[in-house]
Amino acid sequence: MNASYQDIGEVFAKHDSFVILSHVRPDGDAIGSQLALGLALEAAGKKVRLINEDGLPDNLVFLPESQRIELPPAEPLDVEVAIALDTATKPRLGDNALHAASKAKLWVNIDHHKSNPAYGDVNHIDSSSPATGQILYKLITALNLPLPDASRDAIYVAVSTDTGSFQYPSTTEDTYLMAADLIRRGLDVGRINSLTYDHSPYRRVELMRALLNTLELTGEGRVAYWDLTKDTGEKLGLKPEDSEGMIDIIRGIDGVIVAVFFEELPDGKIRVSMRSKDPRVDACNVCMEFGGGGHALAAGIRMAGPLAAAKERVLEAVKRALP
Ligand code: 5GP
Ligand code: MN
Ligand code: MN
Repeated sequence: MNASYQDIGEVFAKHDSFVILSHVRPDGDAIGSQLALGLALEAAGKKVRLINEDGLPDNLVFLPESQRIELPPAEPLDVEVAIALDTATKPRLGDNALHAASKAKLWVNIDHHKSNPAYGDVNHIDSSSPATGQILYKLITALNLPLPDASRDAIYVAVSTDTGSFQYPSTTEDTYLMAADLIRRGLDVGRINSLTYDHSPYRRVELMRALLNTLELTGEGRVAYWDLTKDTGEKLGLKPEDSEGMIDIIRGIDGVIVAVFFEELPDGKIRVSMRSKDPRVDACNVCMEFGGGGHALAAGIRMAGPLAAAKERVLEAVKRALP
């Protein structure tokens, strides 16, 4: 059962120390959500630590107070409550982060992934929300918590990045009303958009060239896919966040319904990133066949290699799901 904002407010009121976590290879919604809630709770007088298994990615360093995001300490933290944000399954928080949070006696799980099995003691899962950041905006304003400027900016970036800049069909009237309210509260929208979208390291453009060289279509042109091998990743000195958002380019090809990105990770596992632009094809269901998850139109998997075998199995499942 979903906890109400008031139920979550009681958890905040009854406790003093919190560790806030988000998923491995964090995106804008993961980091933005941690900062948004963490800094609001801190402004309300709470003790807060913000931990991520992989730390702060370079592309989000511009967020005010982003240096508050820490790698997991070796020893478990003395905290009463752990709050998992934007994380579909508990293992996706990462082993070291879970160890750091292991002394918490209460787990709160706030998320928008429909595949989330409600693994917390207190759960609020709203799959109609385009971003965890938007849930937190509603929570913070409903509870009349303080909204420091850094939280305000973090919420905007969380929602902007998870909606493809307010483009995806998950974007709702509430999303735009929220953005308007954040601007009313002083958000510099031009500046924050530029910091979010107008900065690419050169290697990101080199990655684009490498990916384009592997681009193929299948399923009568309805499925587009490309891949990145470990070798290419090493040669270009890529960071995990460098491919963020790039899949939208092949998702946009005329006639394409499903786009798939296969990435060979340093440990030999394969990361699959999948996008659908037809509600009849549920990418989350396809990914769940392989132990992954996410949303109907944007989902992912981490699966065993080798790359060629993973491609064959996943593309076969995608083609089966085509209308
Ligand atoms: P992305 O393709 O941007 O990495 O992820 C798209 C969506 O799928 C995100 O909401 C993300 O949380 C989810 N997702 C990506 N990879 C995995 C995975 O390995 N397991 C699960 N359960 N969800 C994933
Ligand atoms: Mn995320
Ligand atoms: Mn999200």
